[in-house]
Amino acid sequence: MNRKDFLKTGMAAGLGSVIHPFLMQKSPSPVSGRARNIIFFSYDGFTWEDFTSAQHFFYRNYGKMLHLERLFKKGLAGSMMSHSLTSMVTDSSAATTAWSTGRKIVNGSLSIYPGGQELTTILELAKARGKSTGVITTTTVTHATPAGWIAKHMNRRDEENIAQQYAAFQADVMIGGGMEAFDAALRSDRKDLYKTFLDKGYEVLTDHHKLAEVSSNKLLATFGEGHIAYEIDRKFRRSDTPSLKEMTLKGIEILNGSDNGFVVHIEAGRIDHANHRNDAGAALWEILAADETLGILMDFVDNNPETLLIMASDHATGGGTVYGVGERYRASSEIHDLLNKRTASFPWIMSQIGNSPSEGVIIDVIQDAAGVRVSRSQASILREAIAGEMVMPDPAAYPRQPVATLAYILKGGTNDDPTHLNINYTTTQHTAGAVPVAVYGNGVVVKPFGLVDNTDLYYWLTDALGISHENPVMTAEAALEYF
Ligand SMILES: [Zn+2]
Repeated sequence: MNRKDFLKTGMAAGLGSVIHPFLMQKSPSPVSGRARNIIFFSYDGFTWEDFTSAQHFFYRNYGKMLHLERLFKKGLAGSMMSHSLTSMVTDSSAATTAWSTGRKIVNGSLSIYPGGQELTTILELAKARGKSTGVITTTTVTHATPAGWIAKHMNRRDEENIAQQYAAFQADVMIGGGMEAFDAALRSDRKDLYKTFLDKGYEVLTDHHKLAEVSSNKLLATFGEGHIAYEIDRKFRRSDTPSLKEMTLKGIEILNGSDNGFVVHIEAGRIDHANHRNDAGAALWEILAADETLGILMDFVDNNPETLLIMASDHATGGGTVYGVGERYRASSEIHDLLNKRTASFPWIMSQIGNSPSEGVIIDVIQDAAGVRVSRSQASILREAIAGEMVMPDPAAYPRQPVATLAYILKGGTNDDPTHLNINYTTTQHTAGAVPVAVYGNGVVVKPFGLVDNTDLYYWLTDALGISHENPVMTAEAALEYF
């Protein structure tokens, strides 16, 4: 019996279903008031454990409470289940589709079922009712999480096509990285999508230093190729990139000038990338950058009470946990402060180490950027990984070598090893656990909620906007017929 038949037989018996029917039941929406504006702020690949780690770090080193803690303590917070249509572990595209359409789909696709049936997204519904719309992210602007609110595609990685769908949809604000999907010199078909946007009346921006000067009410801003650099490198290594806060301030300023309100999806998209790489320093600073942004968004809601702010993580990534150290775990917080010594991302560290380093160079660069003196034998393992002498069993595994080896030699030691940060990861993949979700909206009536499903959030959005729209349903069994 092959895998597909095995799954189908199990489902026919009612046992071992891909996703049990009980998990597909809808919870009542806690939102009963109407909102003029909706700000959906997603933390990609963020867990309760990530929250706790950042919370303690921020108290100990800055003497302040995270805005996120302030948000959670308002009471409208809970946990969200994230499974997709055919897996208990979601990817970002299926997760974002659950929010934007109220439907679970197959991992890797955007607002579409296998076979081609497309789903209508909340941004389409809002736009049709005269709302301004936008996406703002630290990833490429055409990356899965923002894309699932606009584009329909079986393959989230086809960002050139997704950029064309953006041109057809015409959201008012699009800010992020990813020039390569728009620039004629970088696109495989040499189409000039920047010109397409200019012809449609957009201001097109690629220099973030000019962001504050933007005066147009339609903006496509793509800052560099690929994702926006990690916050840790912006803060400590002077990487010349915009912050999520800067991008958000401009985006909200433009959208708030609209006549009928707006719906925007803002994403702290690279917590996920740092957690995939098991890079605790980069993850921490992505979370703190998100928190700075959350603070200005909560202020915006306070000043514009017809606004509903939803914060949600899409799934967990990496399984990073803070473990107890020392007698009665008393040294845990001090060891956790070693996060202060992380002053560069793993990609930055690898760029400084270069392609054919000596062990001495490896030791010095890691000492400078991570505050840990690795042994000569550990440096030797990394040197072998860089030289390609050490091959991963699965060459497509994420993250690829040699970053995986850097994570390995920097991972926590034993519970009485005082030299290593006390955060260990269980995987480089996404994980299944329920993740945080919270609502902030002083002028919008929201009841407390507990454990919810990611698809429930779509109905919070439609209820707040006074929209009634049900997308078509596909079962896991029907979807698996295509694979
Ligand atoms: Zn994600």
